[in-house]
Amino acid sequence: MGNYLDNSVKYVPGVGEARAKLLEKELGIITIGDLLRHYPFRYVDRTKIYPIAEVNESMDSALVQIRARVTGVAYAGTGRSQRFSAFVSDSSGSAELTWFRGIKWIEKSIEVGREYLIFGRPSFFRGELQMAHPELDLVEKALNRPVQSALQGIYPSTEKIASSFGAKGFYKIITNAWSIAREHIEESLPESLRQHYGLLSLREAMFNIHFPQSAEMQKRAEQRLKFDELLGVQLSIQTLRSDRLSKNNGFLFPRVGELFNTFFNDKIPFALTSAQKRVIKEIRQDTVSGYQMNRLLQGDVGSGKTMVALMSMLLAVDNGFQACMMAPTEILARQHFATISRQTEGMNLRVAILTGSSKTAERRRALEGIASGEVDILIGTHALIEDNVRFANLGYVVIDEQHRFGVEQRARLWTKNQQPPHILVMTATPIPRTLAMTLYGDLDVSVIDELPPGRQPIRTYHYYDSARLKLWGFLRKQIEAGRQVYVVYPLIKESETMDYKDLEDGFESIVRDFPLPDYRVTVCHGKMKPQDKEESMRQFKEHEADILVATSVIEVGVDVPNATVMVIESAERFGLSQLHQLRGRVGRGGEQSFCILMSGEKLSREARQRLQAMCETSDGFRLAELDLKLRGAGDINGTQQSGVAFDLKIANPTLDAELLATAREAAIAVLSADPQLEHPDHRMLKALRARHSAGRKFDLSIIS
Ligand code: ADP
Ligand code: MG
Repeated sequence: MGNYLDNSVKYVPGVGEARAKLLEKELGIITIGDLLRHYPFRYVDRTKIYPIAEVNESMDSALVQIRARVTGVAYAGTGRSQRFSAFVSDSSGSAELTWFRGIKWIEKSIEVGREYLIFGRPSFFRGELQMAHPELDLVEKALNRPVQSALQGIYPSTEKIASSFGAKGFYKIITNAWSIAREHIEESLPESLRQHYGLLSLREAMFNIHFPQSAEMQKRAEQRLKFDELLGVQLSIQTLRSDRLSKNNGFLFPRVGELFNTFFNDKIPFALTSAQKRVIKEIRQDTVSGYQMNRLLQGDVGSGKTMVALMSMLLAVDNGFQACMMAPTEILARQHFATISRQTEGMNLRVAILTGSSKTAERRRALEGIASGEVDILIGTHALIEDNVRFANLGYVVIDEQHRFGVEQRARLWTKNQQPPHILVMTATPIPRTLAMTLYGDLDVSVIDELPPGRQPIRTYHYYDSARLKLWGFLRKQIEAGRQVYVVYPLIKESETMDYKDLEDGFESIVRDFPLPDYRVTVCHGKMKPQDKEESMRQFKEHEADILVATSVIEVGVDVPNATVMVIESAERFGLSQLHQLRGRVGRGGEQSFCILMSGEKLSREARQRLQAMCETSDGFRLAELDLKLRGAGDINGTQQSGVAFDLKIANPTLDAELLATAREAAIAVLSADPQLEHPDHRMLKALRARHSAGRKFDLSIIS
C-alpha cells in the first residue's frame, strides 16, 4: 500500500520538476514526506517588530524585523558589480537595503512610498543600519497571511536553494506541502505508547514544528519528532541484533594452534598489555560461541590495535579459515602489510596485499591465492570488496578505522560467503560511553583502555601564525636531536585546488626558510601517484627524510616511532577527532613528543574551544564527547550533516541522551511482544523501522 507522503515532492504546488531535482540534489529531499521532515533549525519571532533606532550592532547575527516606508531607490555600479538600494525610514530612523542579485525582480516589486515589513540580518556602515537581501512584505499583505504562527521557522538551506526559492519561497512550499499532506499523515505510534510517554500526535507535532502555535508547542513537537527518529533507529538496531543472535551460524575457532603459539612464544616483539590480552580473550570467546561475532574494538591512537588484529587473524588461520584486513587508505594497507609480513617472517603463513593500485603480478598473486586457498591473510583497501575477489574460505574480517566505511560496504563483505565471517571493526575514535551501547546496539564493544608502557604524554601547544619563527627554532632543535617531524595541511573537499596550493606553498616555504640545507624534506598528498606516495612514506619511515609535509592522508594509522613532532597548519580548520587522530601519529616511541597547532589570529569561538581542548587533554573519550557537542549544536547547515549518524534530522543522540534511553526501552518492549512487528497496530512502526534501517544513509561518520 503506497503512502501518500512517499509521492514525489514535485507534486507540491510551487515545486515542479526542475525544483524537485534541485531539492534532491541540494538537500536530499525526494518525497513529500522528506520535505515535511525538513525541519527548521531555528525560529524567529515574526510578531516582534523593531523600531529602526533600536536595532543595534549586538544583533548582527540575528534576523530582525522592522516596519518602514520606502523613501527612494538607487542604482550603483555596472555589470556584475551592479547593485540596487532602497532607502527606508520609520519614525525612529532610516536604513538602507541592498541587493546584488535578482535586481530586476526586486526593483519591480518595490514601490516608493509604501510601507513594508522588512526582515533580514542587520549590519552597520558608519552607524547606519543596512540589510543585504532582506525579505520584504507589504504590510497589508503580511497581516493577512493564511498560515500564521508567531514563530517562523528558518530552514537549513544551501546557496542554490536560497537563490531558487528565496527564504520566503521555501517557507511557501512547506506551507503548500502541509496543506496537501496534512490529511495523509498517519500516526506512527500505537496509542498506548503515545499515552505512556505523553507525546503529541504526529500530525500535531508536524504542524507545530513548522508553524509553532507557541514556544511550548514547538518544544513538544520537537520531543515527539525526536522520539520517532530515535525509536526508528532503536527498532532497527535491536532487530539486527536479534536476527544475528537467532541464527546461530557463526564459524567455530576452537583451536589455539601452531601459528598463534609460535607467534606468541617466539615472534611477538613485546609483552602484550593486559588490555590487549583481555580483548583477545573476548574475541576467543565470541569465536567459540556459535554466533557470528560483530565486535567493535575501540582503542585510542597508539594503543596497539594492530597486534590484536594480527593475533586474532592467526587464530582464524589456525582453524582452517582465511582472514582479511581492510584499511581505509593505500598507505595504511601497505603499512599493515609490511608490519605483519615482517612480524610473521619465517612462519608458515602466506600474506598477500591487494589495493586499487596493485600491479598485475601483485593482483594476480592475491586473487589467485585467495581463491585457491593458498593465501591465508589478505590485506588491502576497498579493493577487497570488489566482486572479483573470491575467497576460498573466508572466516574472519578485520576492518581498521571503521568510521571510514559505510555499513553497506561492510555488508558486502559478509555476502562473500554463504555463512557470514566474524567481523572485528577497529576504531581509534572513541564513541562516548553513553552512546556506544545505545547507538551501536548491534555491535559488541571491546575497549583497549591502556597504552603500551613507557609512553610519555604528548605535549600540545597552540601557536598563532605570528610565532612561526619560534616554531622553526623548535623544529631545528628536534631535528638536530635526530627526531623527525610531520607538518600537516588541511584538505577540504570543496576547495581542493586552493588547499593543494597551501600545501605546496607550505612545502616551498619550509624548504626555503629552513636555514640548514641538509634537512631533508619529503611530501605526500592524495593527488600524488600511489608509487610516489609510497616512496615518500618509505623515505620518512627509513629516516631518509627529516620532515614529512602532508595533507591529512596520513591521519590514520601511520606508524613512525622516531617522529616526535606533529605540526598542524591551519589547525582551526580541522575537527577535534581529526586533530586527535593526527596527534596520535607521534608519541609512539620512548621520546617526549609534541603537537603544535598553528592557527590564524582570528578564530571562531568554537575553533578556540577545540584548540584549547586539544592542549588540555589527550583523553580521546573526552574529546569525542566534546566534539559531538560542538558539532551537534553547530550543525545547522543542511549540506553538512557531520553530526548525524543515522538518517537523523532532528534528534542528536548526544544532546538527547535521555530521550534515546527512553526510545531504546520502548523499542525493546515493543519487539519483545512482537518481534516481527506484525500486529496491525505496529504497521507504521514497521515503516519507521524500515526508514531507519541500515543501508539507507547509515553513515558512521559521526565518529570520524
Ligand atoms: P593503533 O591502536 O593506533 O592502531 P598500533 O597498532 O599502530 O596502534 O600500535 C602503536 C605502536 O605501539 C606500534 O609501534 C606497535 O608496535 C606498538 N605496540 C603495540 N602494542 C604494544 C605493546 N604491548 N607494547 C609495546 N609496544 C606496543
Ligand atoms: Mg591503527
